[in-house]
Amino acid sequence: MTQPLMQAARLYQAKHPLLIEQVPVPVPAADEVLVKVAACGLCGTDIHLAVDGDIPVSRSPVTLGHEVAGTIAVLGAGVQGLSVGQRVALFPSAVCGQCRFCRAGRESLCEASEVYGMSRDGGLAEYITAPAFGVIPIPGDLGFAEAAIITDGVSTPLHALRSRGMLRAGETVAVVGCGGLGVHAILLARMMGAGLVIGIDTGAEARSRAKALGADLVIDPATDPDPGKVIRAELGRGADLALEFVGRTETVEMTLRCLDTGGRAVLVGVGPGQPKLPPLMRFVGREMSVIGSFGMDKRDISDLMGLVTRGRLDLSHSVTATYPLAGINQALDRLASKQGGVARLVVEPFR
Ligand SMILES: [Zn+2]
Ligand SMILES: [Zn+2]
Repeated sequence: MTQPLMQAARLYQAKHPLLIEQVPVPVPAADEVLVKVAACGLCGTDIHLAVDGDIPVSRSPVTLGHEVAGTIAVLGAGVQGLSVGQRVALFPSAVCGQCRFCRAGRESLCEASEVYGMSRDGGLAEYITAPAFGVIPIPGDLGFAEAAIITDGVSTPLHALRSRGMLRAGETVAVVGCGGLGVHAILLARMMGAGLVIGIDTGAEARSRAKALGADLVIDPATDPDPGKVIRAELGRGADLALEFVGRTETVEMTLRCLDTGGRAVLVGVGPGQPKLPPLMRFVGREMSVIGSFGMDKRDISDLMGLVTRGRLDLSHSVTATYPLAGINQALDRLASKQGGVARLVVEPFR
């Protein structure tokens, strides 16, 4: 008996192109489903893994990709409440559904999660297996490409703004780093009623896209190394909420300098740096907060799908381009070079 084969984009080693290989179609375990992949978004994490190599690959080779949408092809023997042919998106890591955090609806903190494209085969393939707990049905006629990027590119900034940053209507929000996550933070902050939104990025294209998506003010730290100063000069005060999407020591410290008295900084970007707090007299005396925000919860993804389906949130400008699986290395190069002000690129394995 021969096992059916499929195409998959496999990462062997950072800084080397992915190889498109024929591998066996995986078989779902009892609590898993097999999903036929319609769309898989690319993300900064993929660049760290495959191009820059500053996030180590924990398994080699591994099929890359963690922003997945498609249709259920096979149900594991014990799966209930889902059906073959159903349109679904996947939580970007295989979460257990049983640990104290999963049970509390805080899947971002799952104690046994395996990230697709890192420790478990991901969605840059024709098929992927996933635990049924991480399957999120796609409502209405929401497209696969938009559903795919919602699972991480849009839900990560929502989690940062809503669950961690506690954004309230009327507040001033600063966004440091206006790539795929940052521009969606700007779009969402507008939707959530932010009084004023500031985009901070050294890239001219990123700044103009930030403006197009609703930033009231954009700042280039290459010419204004202390954007906090510019914000105070313009508004007479700092930001209530500042989000950091870069993950470098200097950009985190820049984010903290943007804060008003009582302000909250939410750090989303990760990296090897160890940024310093402001002097204690200022940090404590002005009741500033620094908050970590890691990924998203399932609720963030399903709420966003509802918002798009009901016309409250427009993601029609979010997918910059789509590629076939064979174009994966071009797509990664394009995302890494940030040419053309890329928001989000999506791979469609059956295109
Ligand atoms: Zn990602
Ligand atoms: Zn868990």
